[in-house]
Amino acid sequence: MSDFHPVEAMAAARHEFGEHGGVNLSVEISTTFTVMDPETMPSLFTGQAGPKQGCYLYGRHFNPTVYALGRQLAAMEGTEAAYCTSSGMGAIAATAMQLCRSGDHAVVAHAIYGGTYALFRQFLPGRAGVHTTFVDPNDLQAVEAAFTDRTRMLYVETMANPTLAIPDLPRLAEIAHRHGARLVVDNTFCPLVISPAQHGADIVVHSLTKYAGGASDVIGGAICAREEFLLELMDVQDGALMLLGPTMDPTVASHLTLRLPLLPLRMKEHSKRAQFFAERLHAAGVRVVYPGLESHPNRDTLHRLGNREFGAGGILTVDLGTRERADALMGTLQNDEQFGYMAVSLGYFETLMSCPSASTSSELTEEEQRAAGISPGLVRMSVGLTGSLEQRWGQLERALRKVGIWPQAVTHSAN
Ligand SMILES: *Cc1c(COP(=O)(O)O)cnc(C)c1O
Repeated sequence: MSDFHPVEAMAAARHEFGEHGGVNLSVEISTTFTVMDPETMPSLFTGQAGPKQGCYLYGRHFNPTVYALGRQLAAMEGTEAAYCTSSGMGAIAATAMQLCRSGDHAVVAHAIYGGTYALFRQFLPGRAGVHTTFVDPNDLQAVEAAFTDRTRMLYVETMANPTLAIPDLPRLAEIAHRHGARLVVDNTFCPLVISPAQHGADIVVHSLTKYAGGASDVIGGAICAREEFLLELMDVQDGALMLLGPTMDPTVASHLTLRLPLLPLRMKEHSKRAQFFAERLHAAGVRVVYPGLESHPNRDTLHRLGNREFGAGGILTVDLGTRERADALMGTLQNDEQFGYMAVSLGYFETLMSCPSASTSSELTEEEQRAAGISPGLVRMSVGLTGSLEQRWGQLERALRKVGIWPQAVTHSAN
C-alpha cells in the first residue's frame, strides 16, 4: 500500500499510441464492431471475449476509447480496472443496482451528495425494493449496528458533502467485509488526495464532471473496481451498465484523457490555495472547516490515509450563521469582487460557491440537514486556481469586511 504512487501509475498507463503513431489516443466512434470470424461472436455475448482480448461488440458495451480512459482512472486509483459512464449518478446508480437485489439493504453515510441521498432515500426503495439505513460513518458503533443479513454495501464519500468529515476507510472496510458486504467509496471530492482502494474500498466511484474534467464543460462518471465486477456490470443478461445504458460518449472520453494528465498539477494547486485561505480565515476568526487545518476533527485520518503531496483538497466551508449572511457574502464575492461564481458543482478552475442547505443538500429535510451537520449559513467553496493568491485573498477579505463578518468575527473561540 505505501509504495502506491498514483502519478507514476497514471504516467505508465498513459503511455499508449494512437492509430498512425499519434501521441494522443485515437477516438473510436464506431457503435458496432466486426468480428474476423463468425465463431468469435458468441464468445462476445458470453463475456469470454472482451476488451482485454481486443474484442469489441457494440457501443453500449465496451468502447476502446472509453476503456482507455478507464485504464488511466484505474491507474490513478490503483484498482484492477475501471470503466466510465455518462455521469457520476450513472456510475453510482449502476453500482448500487448491481450489488443489491430487491429485498437487499445498504448502509449509507448520512452526509452525501444530494442526488445520491435521493437515490438511496427515495428511488431505490420505491423502484427496486432496496432499503437503506443512513448512518454517521464516523460513528463505528452505529455503522456496525446498521448491518443486517441482507446488507450488500456500505457507501461513503471520502470527504463528506458538505461537512468535509473524513471516514476511517480501513475500519469501515473491516466492518463491511466481516458482514460479507462491499465498501463503495465516492472519491469525487478528492482524487489523488486519498486513494480509497488502497485503504480497503472494493469499488471507487467518481463524478468526472468535477475535478477530473476541471472545466465544468462535460458530464461523466467512473467505476473503478476489479475486472470481474466491471464484466458483471456489462453482462448482456444481467448487467446494470449494459441494460440501463448510462454510456459515455467516446468523444467525451477522448476529451477527458487529455485533462487527466494535468489533474495532479491542478489538485496540488487547488489544495495549496484552499489551505492558504483556510488558514487566513481561521486566523481571522471566521468559522471555517477544512481538513488541512489542525482544528479539523479528522485531521489525523487524513494524515494517515492521504497522499501527502496532494494536500487536503480544494473544498472548504465557512459557516456564516444565517442564510442571509451567506447570501450577502456570496453575492458580494461574485458581483462586486469577481472572486468566483455562485453556482453548484466543484472542481472548476474558477472558484464556485454555493449554500448547501438551499441547493445541493436541499433533498434533505431541515431535520436531516441538522443531523448531518449542515447549518443554514454554510457556504461551500470549491477553490479555483486562476489569478494570484494575494489578489484572491484581497477580494475575499474585502467581501468579508463589506458584509460585516470581519473583523467582528474574531471572538470565535467561544464556539
Ligand atoms: C456531482 C457529484 C455526483 C454526481 O455526479 P454527476 O456527474 O453530476 O452525475 C456524485 N457525487 C458527488 C460527490 C458529486 O459531487
